[in-house]
Parts: sequence; C-alpha cells; structure tokens
Amino acid sequence: MPEPETPLHERPWENVERMLGVDEALVRVLSAFAPLDPVEVPLLEALGMVLTEAVVAGEDVPPFRNSAMDGYAVRAVDTLGARADHPIHLRITGETPAGSPLQRSVAPGCAVRIMTGAAMPEGADAVVRFEETDEPARPVVGEPDRERPTMVGVTRPAKPWDNVRPAGEDVRRGTLVLPSGTRLRPAEIGLLAALNRPTVTVHRRPRVAILSTGDEVVDLGPPLGPGQIRNSNSHTVAAMVRRLGGEPSLLGIARDSVGALRAKLAEGWHADLIVTSGGVSLGDYDVVKDVLQAEGEIAIWQVRMKPGKPLAFGQVRRTPLLGLPGNPVAAAVSFEQFGRPAILKMLGRRDVAIPTVDATVAERLDNRGQRRHFVRVALERDGTGYVARSAGEQGAGVLTSLVRSDGLLVVPEHLEVVEPGARLPVQMLDWGL
Ligand code: AMP
Ligand code: MG
Repeated sequence: MPEPETPLHERPWENVERMLGVDEALVRVLSAFAPLDPVEVPLLEALGMVLTEAVVAGEDVPPFRNSAMDGYAVRAVDTLGARADHPIHLRITGETPAGSPLQRSVAPGCAVRIMTGAAMPEGADAVVRFEETDEPARPVVGEPDRERPTMVGVTRPAKPWDNVRPAGEDVRRGTLVLPSGTRLRPAEIGLLAALNRPTVTVHRRPRVAILSTGDEVVDLGPPLGPGQIRNSNSHTVAAMVRRLGGEPSLLGIARDSVGALRAKLAEGWHADLIVTSGGVSLGDYDVVKDVLQAEGEIAIWQVRMKPGKPLAFGQVRRTPLLGLPGNPVAAAVSFEQFGRPAILKMLGRRDVAIPTVDATVAERLDNRGQRRHFVRVALERDGTGYVARSAGEQGAGVLTSLVRSDGLLVVPEHLEVVEPGARLPVQMLDWGL
C-alpha cells in the first residue's frame, strides 16, 4: 500500500520538488500487485501467458530416428568410393514414406527409398539425397508412371548418420524444457504441442474494470449535445488491457457526483484492478477523491511527468484502483507507465519494463518544468540506427500524434533542452506485449 500522502491542503502540485518521481510512483504501484493464481487453460489460450508449472518432457522429440531428407536409406559403408563418374549401384528393396515405417531391414548392398520424416529402417545408417544419386527426376504429375527402377547409383560417399535425425535430437525425455515462469510465445506453444500438452497451467488473466468519469463525457452512439465529448479513454485503456493479456470490462461513465461514482465503483469490486479516468486533476477531483477515500484508501499523487501529472492510486475494498488523468494522451501515457506493469506483474511476468531503443533526436525539444517528458515520436532508421522525430502536436489531448507515434521518447526531468543529435531512450509502444 502507498504511504500516507502529503496532505492536499499543502498543495504539493505547486512545488515540483515534492511531486512523486515516476520511478517512485511505479514502485508504490507495483507493491500492491502479485502474480495471480494458476489456471489450467487450452494450449492456444496460453499464448502470452506465464507458466506456473515446470514442463518436463514426457517423451523424446522427435520420437524416433528419422530421415532429414528425401533420398535413399543406405549402409554408409556400401557407398565408400562412390563418384559421379563412378557410381556405386545398390538394389532398391523398398520405399518408406513418412508415417509408414518399413518392417524389413536394409541388407548389405541394398537401399530403401525414404522420404523426409520417415523412420529409418533397421540396418541403414545414412541417407543419400536424391541429388547424390543417378535417379532421374520424378515424372510430372499426370504423366504415365515410368517403370520403377530396381537399382540406384550413388554418386557420392555417405558418412554414417548423414541426413539422419536421432530420436530425442530436439528434446530428450525427462529433461526440463520450460521452467515455471516462462512466458509462452509461439515457439513455446509449438514445443508444448510437440510434447503432447493440450492444456497448460498459467497465471490467470487479470480482470480489469474500466470507468470513465465526467459530466461532459458520453458513450458512442447518440449525437453529441452542447459541451459533450466522446468517451475515448475507456476504449484506449480497454484496448491496452486486452493487448497485454488482461480481460477488460467497461463500467461506462460516472457522472461527477458522489452517488454516481459510488454506484459505478460497486460494479468493479470483483475485478483485480479498477482503472478510472478523469476527475483527479485540480478542477474537479474533490468528488472523486472524497468517494475514493471514503470507499477505501486512495492517495492522489502529483507525479513528475508530462503528459499526465495527476494520478490516483490505492485500494477500494481491497481492489486496487488506478485513477488516470482525463486528457486522452495523459491517460494513455500514464496507463503505459503504471497500468501496464501492474497487469504484467499479475500475469506473472518478471520483467515488466517497457522495451526501449536508443534513438538520435532529430530536432530540438524543450522540457521546462522539471518533469519527465514522454514525447510522442515517429522513428526512422538511418545508417547507424534509429532517429526520433516528433510525431506532431504534443498537447495532452491530441490523440492523433499518439496515433502517428512509434514510441515515447523519454526526456529526463532535469534536461531542459534536448539538442538535435542527443541520444535518448524511446519506449516502444508495440513491442514486448
Ligand atoms: P479531467 O481530468 O476530468 O479534468 O479531464 C481532463 C480532460 O480530459 C477534459 O478535457 C475532459 O473532457 C477530458 N476527458 C475526461 N474523460 C475523458 C474520456 N473518458 N474520454 C475522452 N476525454 C476525456
Ligand atoms: Mg472530469
């Protein structure tokens, strides 16, 4: 839980030195979350989730010795001395496509036509590729079958185990393949399938209840009345939650009254996290603050960042609540800094930092006000690496520049002017989901 706050009557927002730093605010937010309990889910549902079990291979992958090529299974010793101008002829005693293992073994001086993935017949210890034989190219589909040859000429010697994949080449039965805590990407999903795991146990998805506040905010549908704006924040945040692997639920819009807010919040207590937007800035936070503090323990912080200074955080009836500022970009950037890592931590992710790249700043940027400035930038590549350019108007309400941006350039609190050519980190908005 956050520590008791500076009393609001001291107006900490007027003194930047007393604002909470972004890093400190993040530590406080993260301390309120833990990885959620395990659930068993169908394999594909586990994409992006984190294992709560250690996966030990119950079988070999591949399960049997097989051919890595289309060609002939032979005894390597039989091919010694083979050359293009002096092929060694072997008798063809069978054919084995993948899925139809041959029961007979390959006798000395013989060869079996074999396809990629077919089990190696007994007796053979190497596969000679078709390209290293004198076998003519296969007839085109539709042409009458040529007579099947009974002999094949090998034009290059094979070494033992050439083009043969041993059983367990990829995974040996009994080995720990995926430790608990592994995040499941497509490669891990494939490996689990190879190991015959139709379900796996992972941290469950966080349920995130999302509530917008504001008398002027209306949902999608009816034409706007005078002074009204659309509720974009709920949708931005819900999309971010879903993309990260959480389950968003939209609680709608609470009017700026104690009763309305109370009633809407009541719908969110089942959630693992409630995210609100609006009502935490100077003009109107009193109602929100009073309700939040009456219902639970919520602190309103002034965080030293831009966009997005006001931030509420705490618990309502044991449900963590993150109160974002109302301005659409401030809400999105604040959620990126505090909501995203909270969700990832609940999902069991260990590294919750946003992936960053270093970029060369293309133009001069001002950063007065001693706040950490998250500048919406578009990235290009030049010969040496990334170049960051402002993605447009940086106002806290200008969503289109967020739309045009690849990432957020992080200007440190104390850097008042960023000169062209400076190297700074950029938080990548589409990486590390
Ligand atoms: P507030 O933090 O409530 O003072 O809101 C700051 C600004 O954000 C105001 O211009 C609001 O109209 C706007 N705003 C608040 N909530 C939303 C929302 N859900 N969607 C879009 N804009 C909003
Ligand atoms: Mg408001």
